[in-house]
Amino acid sequence: MQIQPFSVNDGEGIRTDIFMAGCPLRCRWCSNPEGFRQKELVGWYKRKCIGCGACAAVCPQGIGIDMDAAVSDGKPGIVTGHDACIACGACVHACPEEARTHMVSLMDADAVIREVMKHRLFYSYSGGGVTFSGGEATSQPEFLDYVSRELYDSGISIDLESCGYFDFSIVRPALERMDLIFMDLKHMDPEVHRKYTGVSNERILENIALLGSLRHPDGNGSPELVIRIPVIGGVNDTEENIAASAAFVHDALPDAKMELLPYHTFGKIKYEAIGMPFGQDGFYTPGKEEMKKLRDIAAAQGPEIVDYR
Ligand code: SF4
Ligand code: SF4
Repeated sequence: MQIQPFSVNDGEGIRTDIFMAGCPLRCRWCSNPEGFRQKELVGWYKRKCIGCGACAAVCPQGIGIDMDAAVSDGKPGIVTGHDACIACGACVHACPEEARTHMVSLMDADAVIREVMKHRLFYSYSGGGVTFSGGEATSQPEFLDYVSRELYDSGISIDLESCGYFDFSIVRPALERMDLIFMDLKHMDPEVHRKYTGVSNERILENIALLGSLRHPDGNGSPELVIRIPVIGGVNDTEENIAASAAFVHDALPDAKMELLPYHTFGKIKYEAIGMPFGQDGFYTPGKEEMKKLRDIAAAQGPEIVDYR
């Protein structure tokens, strides 16, 4: 989806984030909807568009300026310009305002490595490195294994952000190379979890417990662990859920830390760009006081509470 250099929120020091497309969950509050599928995507930021028509003039699919407009080519599933788009990129090159942009692109693993290595000096001076994120980085296990091995063998610090829903035995070698693993815990109730994310939490709880068995390949130590709760007002921000989550984490992983992050709506503009309904009106952002109270409730169960934001 993106290679984002100079990130300071996703681990120690200055890091480059690799956002990889594809996710087995469908969290209703997701801020990266372009990463749901492993499919190349071109988006249209209509607020930047000046209506010049350069995009429509080069489009091999006959899509006009308005990608949200209905098209009728008779194929099933093709309703709007977004559906008809083959992500060829012609409009991206033609647009003078960067209103059309690649939101998901195919990229060779070695090209990704070359790109993140450009910032190697920043990593060594700041204690930073590379963070795999998404979407869900573990949904491309071969890519994750290859890139994480190359970076680990080059002495680059690597971290991972994950939704926690993956086959642990397949991903284990990559996990063991990580300096820091952030894993989400969205709700302790399996049915509420399924309602809001599309899957039950059982596999995620199992995987959180398994994190304690990881060891670095050189035998020196193990990944640092941070279990994250994205606090979504109206979904998982009850005192009971936060206390139960923290108690579970501290019991399964006594050395793990926790981070509670408030829900935000920064992703709204991306929904517009890819022609998806936003649909998050029922959620709210917990205020500073509520977040402090919930962090205190989590800390009372034992885990150290950290904040990378
Ligand atoms: S990416 Fe290609 S197919 Fe899609 S709208 Fe642009 S020019 Fe048309
Ligand atoms: S080329 Fe860019 S600015 Fe011009 S109409 Fe298309 S999207 Fe809008």
